[in-house]
Amino acid sequence: MSLVTIERLDTIAVVSIDHPPVNAGTAKQREALLDAITTVGAWPELSGVVITTTGKHFYAGSDLKEFDGPLTEPQLPAVVAAVEALDVPVVAALRGLTLGGGLEFALGCDTRIATPDAHLGFPEVGFGIVPGAGGTVRSARLIGVEAAFDLVTTGRRVTAFEACSLGLVDEIVAESALLERAITLVGSVDDKRRLVDIGAKAPFDGRDELLGRLPRRHRPNVRLAGELVINGIALSASEALTAERARFDELRVSDESNSLRYLFFARQSAAKALRSQAVTTPITRVGVIGAGTMGAGLAQLFADKGYETVVVDGHPDALARITDDAILTSTSLDICADCDLVIEAVFEDMQVKHDLLRELEGLVRPDAILATNTSYLDINEMATALSDPSRFGGLHFFNPPQRNNLVEVIPATTTSEQTRATLGALATALGKVAVPSGIGDGFIGNRVYADYRTQADFLVEDGASPAEVDRAMELFGMAMGPFAVADMSGLDIAWSRRKRLAPSRDPRLRYVAIADRLCETGRLGKKTNAGWYAYPDGARRGVEDPTVTGLIERCRAEAGVPPRSIDVAEIHNRVLGAMVAGAAVVLDSGVAERTGDIDLALTEGFAFPRHLGGPVKAFSRLTGDEQLSALAAVHSSDPIAYTALADSSNGTLPPLVQRLLNGL
Ligand code: NAD
Repeated sequence: MSLVTIERLDTIAVVSIDHPPVNAGTAKQREALLDAITTVGAWPELSGVVITTTGKHFYAGSDLKEFDGPLTEPQLPAVVAAVEALDVPVVAALRGLTLGGGLEFALGCDTRIATPDAHLGFPEVGFGIVPGAGGTVRSARLIGVEAAFDLVTTGRRVTAFEACSLGLVDEIVAESALLERAITLVGSVDDKRRLVDIGAKAPFDGRDELLGRLPRRHRPNVRLAGELVINGIALSASEALTAERARFDELRVSDESNSLRYLFFARQSAAKALRSQAVTTPITRVGVIGAGTMGAGLAQLFADKGYETVVVDGHPDALARITDDAILTSTSLDICADCDLVIEAVFEDMQVKHDLLRELEGLVRPDAILATNTSYLDINEMATALSDPSRFGGLHFFNPPQRNNLVEVIPATTTSEQTRATLGALATALGKVAVPSGIGDGFIGNRVYADYRTQADFLVEDGASPAEVDRAMELFGMAMGPFAVADMSGLDIAWSRRKRLAPSRDPRLRYVAIADRLCETGRLGKKTNAGWYAYPDGARRGVEDPTVTGLIERCRAEAGVPPRSIDVAEIHNRVLGAMVAGAAVVLDSGVAERTGDIDLALTEGFAFPRHLGGPVKAFSRLTGDEQLSALAAVHSSDPIAYTALADSSNGTLPPLVQRLLNGL
């Protein structure tokens, strides 16, 4: 089957890309496209070429799977150059997605027309690279430096209408008339509009202002992409194309772009695992029980996404948090009677949840889905409250649910395929990254994050200051260190959980009491203007507080830990090693199905730097010796909790860590 077909309409050639599902650029597709262009270019009577697609999308970008190895010829710049070199008019007829390499290809044509539903964009910066087949050069020549800079550095998709007003697209044409209009256009225009024929212009004089528009925490490749747009306009097109390709080649093989591709594929695998043949339950009306921190946010999220939303809380005061008129509020569960799905976000208490689920079951339609947002409780045990547990499962959102991208989808053993599929589809419809999780303490994200937090406490007890740990983690790439984050979210939730778990805690495990002491003195974080840091007069950023330093010193003395100085490298290694140890247990116990699900959860839900690919991917980049010494350091931080890492002190990678790395 040919990936590109040619149809002859008198003296016009219609070249259609036919590479489902999204016409991605692969070596074979590029070869077929180049062959077709060469073939039609040799027709003696050729008067014009239309390039279009038989599928839903014009060309949704290059296949990222090819980016890890050397690129196979013909590479995209040669294909774009070939279409651009044709000496008859070429019209690209766009529909669906025209992204990245697809848009670069379209820019090699003289004219672009698009259907109203078309979307165009340069997503390259999101993959750690820059456009490499003329995207920065031709777009700046076509729509001006400023507009090209915006598209290339933000990676945002524009609609056909915006593309048209920018000049990226010449006309918008109804789907049914697209081909006909393209054919008319090639027949009626006879001038070539090669963007590479536009020579060097005067240097762009708003350079600093444009670069100043980049977000504060942008990655280096974003600035490089912007600079290519700005610099390219003052070079000849061929010099600019060479400079752009050199950057692309360099960035394509970087660890950063490898990490971002890895996360992209991890996301696809998670989505695939959640996809199902089962028919999903249509969800229009959603009930949220509990209008606390999570419930209020969840109700807002559902309402913002267009669901009819009702929220119930036993306390009328809690309902006052709901300010959106579109959300119905009530203190009675009766309002949920005709909901298609009800999610509970009430107190983290098994008995409270059991009572609530029982009451709900007697109230809602037999086919309505029930879900829990619990962070730690056993969902199988929760399911026993129901006479039909097949309609029930976990849908774990993270705070704040309107902004946090992660949702863990957690079936109980009794959850039906239809319920599981519905929960997964709902998370996706809400625009979230859904990760399948099994049942285990803290599921995936909170479990691995707990190892990070615990290790941070160990580091402080061992001699680092909270500010040293926070600074080290910012250097690592986190937006904020763990102690600043704890102060921001409040220390009391974790404190009450620790108190609840205290009776069942294994006394042999290392336990750092500093956070408890802070809470006991009323330091609950930013909301009390004091936590790990002081916030004089409600300051936004905390400052180190001698009272805390004194308290930490007393705790170290009580625990019998002589403080020593700890450098940034040790902080990085122990924190990463601890997360990997947690991840290994999560995979080994079957709570996570794939290594990629763990890295996805930590990058989407816990702000682990995406450019590092997640904790496991980042760890895999250390040398063998570095891996062993990081794990050995974690092992000695608490030999009982980390028994599974004992091998690392003898120079062997523990089997469960090896399995985790094998899953990359
Ligand atoms: P919260 O204490 O802020 O709010 C709970 C609300 O539920 C309160 O307003 C309370 O009045 C109401 N409530 C309690 N029992 C009720 C009942 N039987 N019927 C109606 N309303 C009732 O708690 P939260 O932090 O929003 O957590 C709620 C759930 O979400 C918990 O299971 C928690 O584990 C989970 N969760 C919390 C977070 C977080 O960061 N806070 C994140 C993810 C998941």
